[in-house]
Amino acid sequence: MKRVAILGGGPAGAFAAEQLASAGWQAVLFDEKLAWEKPCGGGLTYKAYSHYPFLLENSTPKRFVTETVLAAPRAGAVSLQLDQPLLIYSRFDLNRLLLDRAERAGAQIEQARVLEITRQGSRWRVLTNHGSADADFCIVATGARNPLREVGTQLTACDTMSALGYYVPGEQSMIDIQFLPRLEGYIWIFPRCSHLSVGICGKGEPAGALRKRLEQYMTEREIPWKHGSFYSHLLPSLHTASWRRNRVTGEGWLAVGDAAGLVDPITGEGLYYAIRSADLAVRALLSEVTGLAEKMNLYQRLLRRDFAGDLEFGSRLARRVFHGRFLWASVPARMVQFTRSSPRFSAIMRDLFAGRQSYLDLRQRLLKNLNGSLYEMWMSLGFRRLVPRKAA
Ligand SMILES: Cc1cc2nc3c(=O)[nH]c(=O)nc-3n(C[C@H](O)[C@H](O)[C@H](O)COP(=O)(O)OP(=O)(O)OC[C@H]3O[C@@H](n4cnc5c(N)ncnc54)[C@H](O)[C@@H]3O)c2cc1C
Repeated sequence: MKRVAILGGGPAGAFAAEQLASAGWQAVLFDEKLAWEKPCGGGLTYKAYSHYPFLLENSTPKRFVTETVLAAPRAGAVSLQLDQPLLIYSRFDLNRLLLDRAERAGAQIEQARVLEITRQGSRWRVLTNHGSADADFCIVATGARNPLREVGTQLTACDTMSALGYYVPGEQSMIDIQFLPRLEGYIWIFPRCSHLSVGICGKGEPAGALRKRLEQYMTEREIPWKHGSFYSHLLPSLHTASWRRNRVTGEGWLAVGDAAGLVDPITGEGLYYAIRSADLAVRALLSEVTGLAEKMNLYQRLLRRDFAGDLEFGSRLARRVFHGRFLWASVPARMVQFTRSSPRFSAIMRDLFAGRQSYLDLRQRLLKNLNGSLYEMWMSLGFRRLVPRKAA
């Protein structure tokens, strides 16, 4: 293969371009905006920067956050100290960092909107608003709003959630996560270097209703959102059945990142999966297996083994996490209460935030720790009754 066109220059496309160019392949990347403030929290977990240390070791501005406050209706709030910080970037800076790396590795970066791709024999013709180019292979990295209908995941309404928010002036040291009644999603406040990113994501609820919930929350918290700038976007959140029929490869193309639907259906984390899928895609292309069809099969197998199987399982848990009940209270309320009272449960939450706890093993770990966690919670309740807190 001689020339690979990478359609989209977000984290997935930029990382794919860097890896291909580093291996000596001819990589040309098209993005209509290049580095831009894509609507996003910008949060990177320990899993992301431990796999890809350059995300930590660079001079690009970013925040390191080691405290999360979790809150749920009827359970109050609890502070969770993280043993590994969450990194928070502005998306302009993160995209710039990744595009610069791709360019330094030798990729050709073009600011252009891809209008259409057409198959010509065994090659592609990429038509952009600035002209056209030929390629032997296409990597589709055009994000959740992929306009190229014939390639990438075919997202239906039940495979997405809305995500929107405000960048507002302000400063705080911790992350806030607020669960809300009857919402398969949550509100977040992420501190960035010069402002806060306050947002909400939710499945099955119109964007307008989510926006109202968020504005009410910010008004109650006295967050000056009327001075902020609004953002909104789609977030892939594949339904369990959709993981099985997910279209991530085809003749002469493969898809990575959001364009392949590769987002955690519970947390909405997508940055790590964008970079990771690009990494796996390039490994498959560079592999020794002969034939393009075999390379595509290999990419699908690598994805499944690495994280897609886990995310598919996560999609089965999502409703239960947000709408389920445990011991006569909502699951989010119990999560807050257990985090407050049980060191064992707090350790599980810390691992979930770091990305060290898979969904496939979560149930087993929770069951294994259930007796201990309940014991710790009841002991803590009993202790609080015996030694009541001083009146304020
Ligand atoms: C509100 C919100 C908050 C989020 N917060 C987090 C978070 O805190 N942490 C996290 O891990 N994930 C988060 N995500 C998910 C994360 O933003 C995505 O998973 C991630 O951006 C996916 O990267 P990507 O490269 O696949 O796609 P994108 O980042 O969307 O990049 C796609 C690129 O393709 C370009 N493009 C599209 N169409 C064309 C075209 N026709 N021609 C040329 N270029 C084109 C676009 O300009 C864009 O640069 C959030 C998402 C949302 C919506």
